[in-house]
Amino acid sequence: MARSFVGEARKRVGPKRERIVPIIERLKAEHADARIALRFRSDIELLVSVMLSAQTTDVNVNRVTATLFEKYHRPEDYLAVPQEELERDIYATGFFRQKAKAIRGTMAMLIEEYDGRVPGRLEDLVRLPGVARKTANVVAAELGEPQGIVVDTHVRRLSQRLGLTRHDDPVKIERDLQRIVPRADWGLFPHLLIWHGRRVCIAQAPQCPECVLLDLCPSARF
Ligand code: SF4
Repeated sequence: MARSFVGEARKRVGPKRERIVPIIERLKAEHADARIALRFRSDIELLVSVMLSAQTTDVNVNRVTATLFEKYHRPEDYLAVPQEELERDIYATGFFRQKAKAIRGTMAMLIEEYDGRVPGRLEDLVRLPGVARKTANVVAAELGEPQGIVVDTHVRRLSQRLGLTRHDDPVKIERDLQRIVPRADWGLFPHLLIWHGRRVCIAQAPQCPECVLLDLCPSARF
């Protein structure tokens, strides 16, 4: 019964390849302000902010970096203080020991192998200590060179609800999305889903009657 309901819903909205462009266009119009919520002024600040954002909110990271970035500017600055001092400076973001160690390891590698600059290629970014694929994807996209699609909790939930993937594993979801989302939109697409997920397609209470994707979504309830 449930299965035929899902099948009916998928038939009603049509194949995902035909829906993806209208989905993106409508979300662009609806959330014209969708972009990364972290505040940074340089590639180094971007990288540090994204590393600090693991397991905490962007608002919390911005609060910490507002003073952190007054003190630390270049990669060398993160290595010029004892690890304990950096731990204290990022304490409020949680997991401060792991994060301080990862940031210092990353800064050392940037100095040794990348001339003190943040590399734009995904395969270089994931070599940096403590930089996982999700972090690397966010950084590469913000540097203007998206090479993948960031999959966080909102992106996963909305991709599933919109019938763009049947998977639960972020790596498989990313692969499904890469097959249908136009390359030019790889950087923006996650922000569109994240903002739509926060404002309309809320986890426990999706606002389907108010949703601009109502006729394109197999999970719509109306
Ligand atoms: S129609 Fe409902 S379930 Fe589908 S994207 Fe919109 S809010 Fe989410």
